[in-house]
Amino acid sequence: MSTHHASPLLSVRNLRVALQTSHGQLEALRGVDFEMQRGETLGLIGESGCGKSLTALAIMGLLPDHASVSGSIALHGTELTQMSEDTLCTLRGARMAMIFQEPMTALNPLHPIWKQIAEPLQLHQGMDLVSAKARALELLDRVQLPRARERLNNYPHQLSGGQRQRVMISMALACQPDILIADEPTTALDVTVQKEVLALIRQLVAEDGMGLLLISHNLGLMHDQVERVMVMYGGAVVESASTKDLFERRLHPYTQGLFAARPQLGLKRGTRLQTIAGNVPEIFNWPKGCAFADRCAYVKDSCKEGLPPIELVQQIVHVNESKDKDGGEETDKPRHLAEHWVRCPEWQKLEAAA
Ligand code: SF4
Repeated sequence: MSTHHASPLLSVRNLRVALQTSHGQLEALRGVDFEMQRGETLGLIGESGCGKSLTALAIMGLLPDHASVSGSIALHGTELTQMSEDTLCTLRGARMAMIFQEPMTALNPLHPIWKQIAEPLQLHQGMDLVSAKARALELLDRVQLPRARERLNNYPHQLSGGQRQRVMISMALACQPDILIADEPTTALDVTVQKEVLALIRQLVAEDGMGLLLISHNLGLMHDQVERVMVMYGGAVVESASTKDLFERRLHPYTQGLFAARPQLGLKRGTRLQTIAGNVPEIFNWPKGCAFADRCAYVKDSCKEGLPPIELVQQIVHVNESKDKDGGEETDKPRHLAEHWVRCPEWQKLEAAA
């Protein structure tokens, strides 16, 4: 399939989600903007409660009934926010798929695994049962489930956590979606299995040229798995950059806090990790302006007046290295524009002081 499309694979514009709570209707996403092209890997990082999973659920059209959505989510230029549930159902699994943190909650305990993989194939591709079962086996082999043929009739509880996650991945990939959203896909697994599952996701995404949106609170994982990272806090993206740029130059005080708090190899025994002062505020306590204001050492009165605007720090154009015969740029692949931007008017002062 050609990688060039007039519209991006996924375009999210001023996405706002308000939730009905016991404190009234509150805005849980405060205007999220990003684009993703086919073949791109994008990470969303932040502490729990910052809006990462809500962003994923909004894209998948899986928000709770009481949520109200505004802004735009477009898949290949087709608007999703106004789509009926029936139409969205035809896209989920077929064009966009999601891997959840705990496969036990996403798998049906009452059905053998092959049936659960076969279901989207029957639903979206009209496969008959025999072909869908054969394809389920191919998919389980592809995600390297050991002794896949013998396990076809296993139920989820008969598999280990890592094996269940492989089944989830094979379900997600069954219809070769354009976008894969992985929400903390390895948090429930032990470290060795985590590495194997992440390597598998990376390999499959590269082979199929999908767009990957990876959600995690783990910076090391972002470093290894994605090309671009968006840092979320208080329902807004506060910094966005290519992974390389972000690891070299983090500018938002919250991003700096995340990096300072990460566990690092080689620290002397007994060394205390730095933590970000204060706690993530509950949604009903979010300040009106910058949501980080109550934890920020650099806060000014103006920070509390409204959401700080996006400030562009750097714009890097990654031109494709391959050229056509005349030495011009290759035309069937888009140039990759990676911006580094931050939602903090103080970033230049902070950087100068660092
Ligand atoms: S906008 Fe103000 S409160 Fe928010 S991170 Fe920047 S300096 Fe701190």
